[in-house]
Order: sequence, then C-alpha cells, then structure tokens
Amino acid sequence: MNSTLPVIPTTALSSQSFQARVVWANREVTVGGGAPVRVQSMTNTDTTDVIGTAIQIKQLALAGSELVRLTVNTPEAAQAVAPIREQLDRMGIDVPLIGDFHYNGHRLLTDHPECAQALSKYRINPGNVGKGDKHDRQFAVMIEAAMRWNKAVRIGVNWGSLDQELLARLMDENSRRPMPWDAKSVMYEALISSAIDSAAQAVELGMASQQIILSCKVSGVQDLISVYRELSKRCRYALHLGLTEAGMGVKGAVASATALSILLQEGIGDTIRVSLTPQPGEARTQEVVIASEILQALELRSFVPSVTACPGCGRTTSTTFQELTQQIERFLRDQMPVWRASYPGVEKMKVAVMGCIVNGPGESKQANIGISLPGTGEAPAAPVYIDGEKCLTLRGDAIAQEFQVIVENYVKRRFGAPSDTIA
Ligand code: SF4
Repeated sequence: MNSTLPVIPTTALSSQSFQARVVWANREVTVGGGAPVRVQSMTNTDTTDVIGTAIQIKQLALAGSELVRLTVNTPEAAQAVAPIREQLDRMGIDVPLIGDFHYNGHRLLTDHPECAQALSKYRINPGNVGKGDKHDRQFAVMIEAAMRWNKAVRIGVNWGSLDQELLARLMDENSRRPMPWDAKSVMYEALISSAIDSAAQAVELGMASQQIILSCKVSGVQDLISVYRELSKRCRYALHLGLTEAGMGVKGAVASATALSILLQEGIGDTIRVSLTPQPGEARTQEVVIASEILQALELRSFVPSVTACPGCGRTTSTTFQELTQQIERFLRDQMPVWRASYPGVEKMKVAVMGCIVNGPGESKQANIGISLPGTGEAPAAPVYIDGEKCLTLRGDAIAQEFQVIVENYVKRRFGAPSDTIA
C-alpha cells in the first residue's frame, strides 16, 4: 500500500506576490514575493511622548517585531516622529517605522517633511482620506509624498471605516441585479474594491506596484477568511493580514490564531499583526509574542527555542513541573535578544520539560535537551537528556537553576563560535 502522505503547500500564493521593500538606513525588511512572513505591531503610547514611545518601540522590536506602526494624528505627533527615530537610532534600534494616518495625512506629510522622511512606510486608509472630490486629491497628495521620499505604503481598508460612498454605490448596483447578493457579500466586495481600486489609483499616479501592500481588516474570523481568499485571487500585491479588534486575552489570541493560521496555511499573507487589547498591566509586547508563536506553530518561521511540555495529570501533584516549565520558557525568551546575534540557529532548538516517567524520557529524547521530572510516587530524581542520550540526573531543591545552566552551556557549545565552547 502506498503510504505517502499528501503535502499541503503553505507558501504557494505568497511567493507569487510582489515584493515590497521597507527600509530604514541599512535595515531592509522585504514583504511578500516569497520573503518570510513578517511580524509587525503598533504602539499605544501618545506619539508626542518621544521617550515613552521610543522605549515601547524598542521593547516591541526586541520582542521580535520587524516593523512598528505608530499613530501620526496631529501636527505635534508629526513633529515627534523624527525625534523618536533619532532616539531609536541612538539606542541601536533600526526597526522601520510606519506612520498611521487618518483624515489629515495629506496635510501632515506635506507640512512635516522631516516626519515623511523619518517614516519607512505610510498606512493610508482610503475610507478616511476625505469625502467627495477631496478624496482623490488628498489620496494623491499622500501617494506623491511616498514617491518623493521613496517609501512603501499600505493601503489599509477597515470595515469600521469603510468608504461609505463606495458602499452606497455598490449597494445601489446590487439592488439592480436580477439576483441581488446578500448584504454581507456586498460588504466584502466594498472592502476588496476599496483596496484594489485605491492601489490602481496609486499605480496610475506613478507608484510602483512593488511598493504597495494591501489589507482589508475585519473583526470576524469567517469574514476575514472569506475576504482575504477573494482579495488574494484578485491581486498580486503583498498582503498585510490581521483580525482587527480581535479582543482581549485568550479570546483575542485564539481568534487571531484561528483566522491567521487558516489563511497562512493557504499561502495568503505576507505580514501579520495580532491586534490584541492588552489586559490591564499586560505588556504591549504580548501581541508580538502571539504573532511569532502563530508563525512558529505553523513552522513558517522560528523565533525562540520551543518548549515541549506535557499538560500534567494526576501523576504531577506538585507545582514544581509547572514552575520549571514557566521558568525555562521565560529564560529562553529573555535570552533571545542577545542569543539571536551570538548563537545563530538557536531559535530552532527544542527543549522538553516533562512531568513523569510515562512520556518523559521518550519526549525528552526527541528534543535537543530534555528533562523528565519525577511524578508522584517516583524516586526524587530528574534525568536530563541531551541530543537523545541520558547524560545526568538532577536531584534536590535546585533542579530548575541547574537545568538552566545546562541549557545555557548547551547553547554555547552547540550554536556558539568555537571560542565560546565550554570544556
Ligand atoms: S508525561 Fe506523565 S505527568 Fe505528563 S501528562 Fe503524561 S502521564 Fe501525566
């Protein structure tokens, strides 16, 4: 019997899209055209707070955000952009910045050339660039600014701010069809048309298709999937993917992961954002962590070493196993800003933290480095496996700290330059 399993393509479509280049100084982030799917995020500080915003951008960048968007909503915010950029450059953070414009972007980009220059990409919402005859004129001013400063743009449609004139026209046309579509289909069509028609307008004004990224964000999982499947069929622009207003905590993370994973698995999406509402006191970087985990779970990219841990059961009646899993996950993530540069390839490392002898040794042997903690009733000993071999057994109260040291030494030996090697 032929037991070959079907292989599902994951990048077939995205590799066919145009490739946009988002650049700051010597840092170039390519989007689309087969480039890795990029993680991006957005600040929630007041942009006029230069230091606070620069610090948050640094945190987002160190957490793995490859592009960071910030609100540019007033002349004061526009004036703050170049100082934020300078502050980041002084801190050695070269992440490209995206300006998020609504209503007055045409004026801000004209009146504040230093802002237009310091940004690497402009987000333009076609539903918020002006009504009537002002719409095309103001849209053109923004596109011309992008061309003058050689910047990429994202034409980002959002169904909370959909171009109402376009929607009314499509509703009207629909009512004259022999078999009218349902209201939702008209809404999808309005979102997609708004993005594609605006991109065509930008191209007519002289912008290269390669410098245009499109998005059509909605807040429902099924709506997002339907809209992006259709959008990807109808254009070759690089696509920014995200479930807008995803919500808070587990709900927001699950909804985003569900929607984005289905599309990414079909090869749709070149850059993603998880639009999570932070819980009180929660770090803004959480949205970057979740976006990275989605790409890592799909095996599209690797960002941090992965920790395989069993769920625990009646054989793990103490919290030791949970605490060790949490400590090791935190330790690995905290090390990554330094390890990423010093130990290339470390992000692909697999660590196993297991709760008892049932699956512990087997799972630990599959990882680069694994520990099998003693379950209830087992002898108080934790065998450690390195590259599939049992190497030593830890005992006592300092198992967590000792295991951390073993992991660190393994990383230096396996991924470091020869001079880093521990004897
Ligand atoms: S490995 Fe052991 S502790 Fe973990 S879930 Fe399986 S039986 Fe339970």
